[in-house]
Amino acid sequence: MSFSRSLQTESQFLKGVGPRFAAAMAKAGLLTVRDVLWYFPRRYEDRRNIPGIRDVRPGQWITVRGRITEFEGRPSRRGGMVLIKATLSDKTGSIDLTWFNQPWVRRSLEGYRGEIVAYGQAKEARWGCEINTPEWEKIDEEADPQEFARITPVYPLVDGLSQTTVRKATRAAVEGYLDMIDEPLPSWMRKRYDLGNLVASLRSIHMPESDETRAQARKRLVFDEFFFMQMALALKRHETAEELGISFPIAELEAAAPLPDRASESREEWDPAARNVPDSPGTLFEELHRESRAAEPLWQQIGRMLPFDLTGAQDRVIREVFSDMARRHPMNRLVQGDVGSGKTAVAACAMLAAVRSGFQTALMAPTEILAEQHHANLRRLFEPLGIEVALLVGKLSAAEKRKAAERVAAGDVHVAIGTHALIQEGVRFARLGLAVIDEQHRFGVLQRAALRGKGVGNPDVLVMTATPIPRTLTMAVYGDLDLSVIDELPPGRKPVRTHWKPPYDRPQVYQGVRELLGQTRQAYFVCPMVGESEKMLAQAAEDLHYRLTHEVYPDLRVGLLHGQLKAKEKEEVMESFRRHELDILVSTTVIEVGVDVPNASVMVVEDANRFGLSQLHQLRGRVGRGAHQSYCILIADAKNDDARARMEIMVATNDGFRIAEEDLRLRGPGELAGTKQSGNLDFKIADLVQDGKMLEVARQAAFELVNVDPTLERPEHATILARVRQQRAEAAILTVS
Ligand code: ADP
Ligand code: MG
Repeated sequence: MSFSRSLQTESQFLKGVGPRFAAAMAKAGLLTVRDVLWYFPRRYEDRRNIPGIRDVRPGQWITVRGRITEFEGRPSRRGGMVLIKATLSDKTGSIDLTWFNQPWVRRSLEGYRGEIVAYGQAKEARWGCEINTPEWEKIDEEADPQEFARITPVYPLVDGLSQTTVRKATRAAVEGYLDMIDEPLPSWMRKRYDLGNLVASLRSIHMPESDETRAQARKRLVFDEFFFMQMALALKRHETAEELGISFPIAELEAAAPLPDRASESREEWDPAARNVPDSPGTLFEELHRESRAAEPLWQQIGRMLPFDLTGAQDRVIREVFSDMARRHPMNRLVQGDVGSGKTAVAACAMLAAVRSGFQTALMAPTEILAEQHHANLRRLFEPLGIEVALLVGKLSAAEKRKAAERVAAGDVHVAIGTHALIQEGVRFARLGLAVIDEQHRFGVLQRAALRGKGVGNPDVLVMTATPIPRTLTMAVYGDLDLSVIDELPPGRKPVRTHWKPPYDRPQVYQGVRELLGQTRQAYFVCPMVGESEKMLAQAAEDLHYRLTHEVYPDLRVGLLHGQLKAKEKEEVMESFRRHELDILVSTTVIEVGVDVPNASVMVVEDANRFGLSQLHQLRGRVGRGAHQSYCILIADAKNDDARARMEIMVATNDGFRIAEEDLRLRGPGELAGTKQSGNLDFKIADLVQDGKMLEVARQAAFELVNVDPTLERPEHATILARVRQQRAEAAILTVS
């Protein structure tokens, strides 16, 4: 039999696999030989010298090998669970293996006479050692004994797939197909970054000869993964940077010199398609336009508009934004700043500049509460300047929505603020020039693109995120954006003091809160995260609300906010809290993002353990926004070291970036707020925590390369181009299917 051999060959044709395993292989994503080659071990076991069981010591992570000499499976005292206990023996001694509630272990091991290997952490037991819930595998007759005298790869598995099968598949792929692989990295590049070649690296990652070759192979493969991801981002950024956008006349505004009449004259210059746009921007614009020629210089106006002086960091970031806006290419900038660093003011300045240049701007927020808050705040800033602000949210009646949409379309509104409703069908802008997206992590890249699509030509996009995410993650998720960081808090802020209390201290906490509130302050109580559903959360909030109103603070005014309330009700509650008609607000995490009530200076978080660190940090950012000392009290049982470490970090620091790094370390990138769906983080081998340095190196390499040869047309970049093309083709298939 002969068929043409290629990396696209189906994996079931690999020696030792066969149609029997085709379904399971497919489930693991192993459709082709290429998939198999890029299916990397989760870890390795050094089985060159497995110690005798007698030498195992408590605390060691260890691989043992032997036969099962006793087997016992019985219901455990914890109702319904099955406790399985097997004694594994070799020539030197024996060790107990235990599993809870894994009946399939029993089906597979009871009565089995062959050898197995088991891996796990040894614990002290009554006699000798035991391993709880070890990983294990049978060494069956067919298995190649060689498999067990080497550094053995251990692969991630799915149901129906055994280590043996995957090992056979990868071995067959390595032995039969590696010669088909083209080396994508030119040799100068491998030399420069001290990387091995791809073929050798793939061989060693699956069949390592030593720890050193394995480490070297991993380095190369991690680089590959990061480098080509960053190439995609670098090329994308290059393409956007080449596009023509709006060049806002910032310098003229700063000098308050008369503006050219951009409304009619220069639009075609930045986008020919704009010719089809109705050419009457509306009377309001013309008026503003006329006024702004005589208006004061931009910075002076900013000074008058804002009720405070900008911090140095705000000032710097605004200048970075302005310089982007002035360029003829579209802005694509991410402004990152810890909670309370004053991102809204930065957005307001950018919006002011856009409006004064004769364009509309849109501000998109992740929740209605936030959109409303922005609306209230920005109206206060903008209306005295004659700038029209409108709110566009889902809860408006159909008629109100239509009316608002019409005003936006007619150009009667300068600043449109809203939620997703804003980008939904039907809302058109007369002349959208700048789109601001607040709290980006809640939005996908697609929404960003959709909002951009609303513009005339290519509007500038400013993304603001409050979640301080580690630098590595920023590069991975937002790598196509330019980055500005507001790394300074407004003056006079007193850092929030955080305390961690066990649940049995609740009465003291309640009493303490009462004292802190005194006559003048307000507090948030954040209810526990029970389950995922909004309904359960709402129930928990109601319970806590009931307890506080009836038992703890019958004399205080306690309000309730959760996701199941109607938008109107939410707004009313928020408004009364803002007006201090409520002393305490019981809430779910709906207050997590952006809510700003400076008089609230105490926050109690129930069951704080259940929240992610970054989320706790976001929540805590709701207090400490005024001039007085604020407190955050975390009520949590610390059941294990991990939980304790998490609470201790919260108590020790207010630095969002440090907390984010810690969160990343403790929970891994997939769990970090909102990055889940980003799709950019599913690495096959790279690990953002461990490989942050390598990401920077790869990023720099990619951006440098695109800088010198943006189209990758030079012959020495041909292999890279081929790989980028292949990557794009694969991405296209993914988006179509
Ligand atoms: P965030 O970055 O979390 O969105 P906001 O923009 O909501 O922060 O600002 C937080 C609070 O700080 C607001 O009450 C705002 O008015 C205030 N603020 C912002 N910038 C300054 C500043 N430079 N000086 C004093 N207060 C400021
Ligand atoms: Mg904000």
